[in-house]
Amino acid sequence: MSDKVETASICDRGDIVSFQDRYDLPDLIRCSIAGCNTAHKKGFNVLLKNGSSARIGHICGKHLLGDDVFMRMQRDLEAKEQTALRKKYISSPSFDPAGAEALLASWEERVRLIRQVLGHLKTISYSAYSELQTACQKLDGRITYEDQDGRTHSHTVQGRRFLADESWDVYFGNARSNVRRINELLAKPDLDDKQLAEITQKASQAIRYLTVAAEVLDDFRAFCTIPNLSGLAKWVGGLSKIEEADGFLEIRVRRAGVWAVPHFATAVDRTLIAKLSPA
Ligand SMILES: [Zn+2]
Repeated sequence: MSDKVETASICDRGDIVSFQDRYDLPDLIRCSIAGCNTAHKKGFNVLLKNGSSARIGHICGKHLLGDDVFMRMQRDLEAKEQTALRKKYISSPSFDPAGAEALLASWEERVRLIRQVLGHLKTISYSAYSELQTACQKLDGRITYEDQDGRTHSHTVQGRRFLADESWDVYFGNARSNVRRINELLAKPDLDDKQLAEITQKASQAIRYLTVAAEVLDDFRAFCTIPNLSGLAKWVGGLSKIEEADGFLEIRVRRAGVWAVPHFATAVDRTLIAKLSPA
């Protein structure tokens, strides 16, 4: 603070207009309240009626101003600090919700493929699907089956999260609507405090939702591999053939026809999440 702090003296509660910011010092100091005898480390820098700055301790300031005025000024300062934080968030160089929305398309494609695989599973055999879901929820993904000679085999399903709990789909949908809403708000010319708050709140929610969705989407890659699908095909009705073509694995299952499952070379692009975070 300027020299004014050292010279300004607060004699009356009416001298204080508002809190400018807070201080929290390593050493004990006296504040600007006339007759303040207790040195303290914490308090507020305040704006005085005469335009200069001064400081008040957090306890003696409360005594001088009275609880109500002190609390109101503290609340006003907190609101100002919140606004500053929100503005900092959205003006951060890494914050790029338009870029995030563009990247959503590639995630969406994977989400569509998971839904398709789930749909196929249910069509092939609903009871097998339910059994598989239970195994993924409770039995560490272990399924057992007997071969033609009556021997028992077991397979541990890989990439179980999309099967164990389908609510990830809701998370992805929420994240998508949050990102769209953020961009809708950012297109407005002047953002008020309520809108700034909505943007930062929706961004941090979207980050949480997308983190869950990314884990599920990446886990799904482990489901779509030849060893896992062969194990499943044998369990469903006996595998006759498995072939790779155009990013898909085609599985011919005895008594259950052909099943095409996508095959992913790479993990989902997580820069989408970074584009919603401040640097
Ligand atoms: Zn004081």
